[in-house]
Amino acid sequence: MKLVDINNKDALFTEAVARFKAARFPLASTGAGISVPSGIPDFRSRGGLWTKYNPEIYANLDVFLKDPEKTWELYRQTGRELQNKKPNGAHLALADLERHKKLRGVITQNIDRLHHAAGSENVLEIHGEFAHLQCLDCGNLEPVESSHFDAYPYPRCSRCEAALKPNIVLFGEAVRQLEAIETLIAQCDVLLVVGTSAKVYPAASLPEIVKRQGGLLFEFNLKPVLEQADYCFPGDVAKTLPAFANEL
Ligand code: ZN
Repeated sequence: MKLVDINNKDALFTEAVARFKAARFPLASTGAGISVPSGIPDFRSRGGLWTKYNPEIYANLDVFLKDPEKTWELYRQTGRELQNKKPNGAHLALADLERHKKLRGVITQNIDRLHHAAGSENVLEIHGEFAHLQCLDCGNLEPVESSHFDAYPYPRCSRCEAALKPNIVLFGEAVRQLEAIETLIAQCDVLLVVGTSAKVYPAASLPEIVKRQGGLLFEFNLKPVLEQADYCFPGDVAKTLPAFANEL
């Protein structure tokens, strides 16, 4: 693991830039940490929503089906926390790289849609997204509005009156876009790992696959955690990632 200091553009920084530039199929994998600078707390962090609402109960398909009112206690608060949030420098840097054909896509665990807001186009959302509510009865997908969070005991489908659920992957549901992710990652020779400890499957397997293929890992986290990383950029991702991307 080589620690790269963005404030000191030394030989190591230059080496990292050169090796990224030589990539044939660079991708990014992002998690909660990329959205923290946008004011969205990591649900898993201390004081985060998941410490108050056990996700295995509240973010669980069976519980939603039996008692949607209970699960909406969590969804309502999550939805309100995500409202009116803006992408930060890290989201914008990834969108900019893609626009300039220097990044093939973003695989994210986040449900906040900030990569889309930043202008990224090839975004694969493993855990779905909270910009829509879905009806499991009739398949209706409705754009989220703030009025949904004021609906008690829970918002209902405008077509069939069934309880709506956020268009996110709950415990008991399959993760999404796995095939598309596998196709992309099989070609990947450089992976930017941004704001994630990459401990939760399937995101956890992405760095391993890239390493096994002989690829490189660039880690952008407040505190580096990825043991297999080739280059680590410690610090606020909204600063480190744009500083790196500016050199590419
Ligand atoms: Zn419906």
